[in-house]
Parts: sequence; C-alpha cells; structure tokens
Amino acid sequence: MEKRELTCIGCPLGCALTVTLEGNQVQQVEGNSCRRGEAYGRKECTHPTRIVTSTVAVKGGSIARVSVKTKTDISKDKIFSCMKALKGIEVQAPVHIGDVILSNVAGTQTDIVATKNVF
Ligand code: SF4
Repeated sequence: MEKRELTCIGCPLGCALTVTLEGNQVQQVEGNSCRRGEAYGRKECTHPTRIVTSTVAVKGGSIARVSVKTKTDISKDKIFSCMKALKGIEVQAPVHIGDVILSNVAGTQTDIVATKNVF
C-alpha cells in the first residue's frame, strides 16, 4: 500500500487529501469535504491533467501579446509539448476571446483558444 498526500485544487478550501493506492489502483481517498475532492484525488494519482495557460504574439494589435489557454485540461505529460508548440506562434489582430489559435495542440485533441480580445 502506498499513501500520497495531496492538496485538492477544486476550490479555495484546499482540503488535505490522503490517497491510498495498491499498485496503480486507488483504494481510498480521505480528507475531502466533497465528492469533487475524491474525484480529483483519484484522477491526480492515475491520470493527472491540467489546463495550460500562456501567451502568444499578436501582429498589428494594440498590445504585443494575447493570453491563451487550452480549451480543456490536457494530460500533465503533454504540457512541455504544448508549450513547445506555442513557441514562435504569431496571430494577426483582431483576436477575439474564444478564437482558436492552434488546433489539436501537441496531438491532445484540444485547441488553444484566446482568453482576451485584442484589437
Ligand atoms: S474536497 Fe471539495 S471542499 Fe475540499 S478543496 Fe476539494 S473541492 Fe473544495
């Protein structure tokens, strides 16, 4: 049996979770105050994912860069490939919130979208 200590990121309460694993199987999640915490503890120990945020350059806009993020969370082991794929990308103004900046980033089936308007 292995025990992992995690902090739930589901809300600002930040419950301290203890996840008990047998091999790769989660046996128990303790310390959570709600079901989201249990789901987070299970996922974090078996298939951790994250939303990735960054910025890309804007050509001809009122500001030089626009903030972007993955539309959905991606596997944690794809974060580096995702950031690499964003390197050197430049988009033409205007950019609108939700515009797809890069499709299927790093083969994740997830798009990179703008999170800011730039005119
Ligand atoms: S377990 Fe529930 S209450 Fe606790 S931090 Fe996670 S989401 Fe918030």
